[in-house]
Amino acid sequence: MSEFPSLVESGSFQHLLDELRDRSGDLNAPESWPAEQLHQMSEAGVLGWLVPTEFGGSDISDVELTAGYEHLATACLASTFVLTQRNAAIQRIARSGNEALKSDILPALVTDSIFATVGISHLTTSRQHWTKPAVAVERVDAGYIFHGEVPWVTGADKADLIVCGGTLHDGTQVLVALETNTEGVHIEPAVPLMALNSSRTASVRLDNVFVSLEFLLFGPTEQVIKHSGGGAGSYTTSALAVGLAARAIRVLREETKHRPELLDILHRFANEHAAISTDLARATAHLQDVTTPALTTEALRQRSNSLALRSSQACLAASKGAGFVASHPAARLVSEAMFFLVWSCPQPVVLGNLRELACSASGEHEIPF
Ligand SMILES: Cc1cc2nc3c(=O)[nH]c(=O)nc-3n(C[C@H](O)[C@H](O)[C@H](O)COP(=O)(O)OP(=O)(O)OC[C@H]3O[C@@H](n4cnc5c(N)ncnc54)[C@H](O)[C@@H]3O)c2cc1C
Repeated sequence: MSEFPSLVESGSFQHLLDELRDRSGDLNAPESWPAEQLHQMSEAGVLGWLVPTEFGGSDISDVELTAGYEHLATACLASTFVLTQRNAAIQRIARSGNEALKSDILPALVTDSIFATVGISHLTTSRQHWTKPAVAVERVDAGYIFHGEVPWVTGADKADLIVCGGTLHDGTQVLVALETNTEGVHIEPAVPLMALNSSRTASVRLDNVFVSLEFLLFGPTEQVIKHSGGGAGSYTTSALAVGLAARAIRVLREETKHRPELLDILHRFANEHAAISTDLARATAHLQDVTTPALTTEALRQRSNSLALRSSQACLAASKGAGFVASHPAARLVSEAMFFLVWSCPQPVVLGNLRELACSASGEHEIPF
């Protein structure tokens, strides 16, 4: 996959991938949650990837992280997606200046002893057209009062801690580490999704929740998510899409064993996958000019989305009616690929996806990258 493979070639990581692949079907069961998968990741040292070394983690490079996510997503997208939300919480805690909180929480996040997640999309890609903030915050003595609804929280009912934010009356925002057992925090039931139900994604209602200054991570400031690092449409999201495409290509390769007429299709997807995977690795290693149109963060996300969608649908078309049976790998690939159309997509990526969908087969309109 990547030209920077050190971590992913280790024996323990390869063993983890085998385990995740073997168990990925278990996560289709109703009410499932990847507890066992997270435990295996914990045993393989993966949960500590983003925890700084001073707190017991391994603090791997962006290049290794991207390659790691690609391989994990190929093996099991559901548990890898849950890992990314956990890591998004870790990254923000680790980057904050709240040293006491970091020493308190980060060592526990190296293993699966606690689960943390994020509820930040209402500050980036969700409900941006609303006139009132989804979560309103008021400054009081010794802390803040949070009121409103955090619309999307993966693993909400499994979380000990949610990194979430809200907006004050002057438009500035704060980001806090919210303990889920705080008075006034109500976790709604997980919503039935078209795929990835085991992510147990739900909304969280905050009824005048008091959060003491001890739990403040960033702010108050404008656009707090920019200050906390990361954001929508990051390399992480592209890595998962590319990882899913690699699984689609594997399934296609199996089909070609008996059907040589599919070889040309397979090679086209395999070449495109190799090119995007390399561009992504080089982008995270800062080895290329990211102002080149096809290599910007947004273009990489669009290219990855496009590949995930087309390769999974090609898998279904090649698998014919058999692939339409819910238990067939092609059926799962197609529904999982749809996730990338909606997950953490900044507006330019949404528009790029829509423009591509509006392209006609006659070539009347150009594909937008
Ligand atoms: C399975 C899943 C898991 C997720 N997990 C997390 C998580 O753990 N943490 C997290 O922070 N986020 C998470 N997200 C959120 C995700 O990253 C995006 O923010 C989310 O998908 C954006 O969709 P939305 O429906 O909230 O967008 P919105 O923009 O709020 O759109 C909702 C609806 O509003 C209408 N609308 C949209 N734009 C306009 C407009 N300009 N004018 C008028 N009407 C409009 C449309 O009818 C649209 O259907 C998750 C999402 C999914 C699907």
